[in-house]
Amino acid sequence: MSAEQTEHDPAVNPTISYELHGNCYLNITYHCTLRCAFCPKFNGSWEVQGFDLRLFEEPSAEKVVEEVGDPDRYKQIVFCGLGEPTTRLDVLLEVAEQLKAQGATIRVNTDGLASLIHGRDVAPELAGKVDALSISMNAHNSELYDRHCRPKCEGGFEAMLDFARKAKAYVPSVTLTAIDGLEGVDIDACEKIAAEIGVAFRRRVLDEVG
Ligand code: SF4
Repeated sequence: MSAEQTEHDPAVNPTISYELHGNCYLNITYHCTLRCAFCPKFNGSWEVQGFDLRLFEEPSAEKVVEEVGDPDRYKQIVFCGLGEPTTRLDVLLEVAEQLKAQGATIRVNTDGLASLIHGRDVAPELAGKVDALSISMNAHNSELYDRHCRPKCEGGFEAMLDFARKAKAYVPSVTLTAIDGLEGVDIDACEKIAAEIGVAFRRRVLDEVG
């Protein structure tokens, strides 16, 4: 294999961090709680905005912190890859704590199912370590949520909303998001649910990292 091939081979040189919009994005896992029908990895590709996010092994907290380098170079450090970062909650919190101690602003893009999969309310554990949560709501009811996101556990839609409700007591900025154009999804109804819960709302564009 040539040096150039090795450089782009995710098995040899995985993309653990990538830079977009002045932020440093962290790709710490390939595991997901959802199997979203619109996800690139369930449609034969691990590429997002030109970055091959396939991981063959998951990086340690030390490796992730090393990858970031000086966090002052970025507006935000964002946990967001082709896997759900809260499946590795211990690593996420360890990295967040170390980077926050160096002055970083930490955002987690999540499916909001951390409490469901870990079997406890994890929202208090985010306090002082996570500045912002962007939670994928993706639908205005559980039927559509299940159709588009195909969760591995039951009760995902309600668990995601409950997580958003609880997290706002511990995380300064909580935003629910929905993707524009998913069949049957009423974006205005999603926005209304976010307002009822008392968190912000953002309309997303499919395949754009935000
Ligand atoms: S949560 Fe994200 S990475 Fe996981 S299946 Fe859905 S779109 Fe893909």
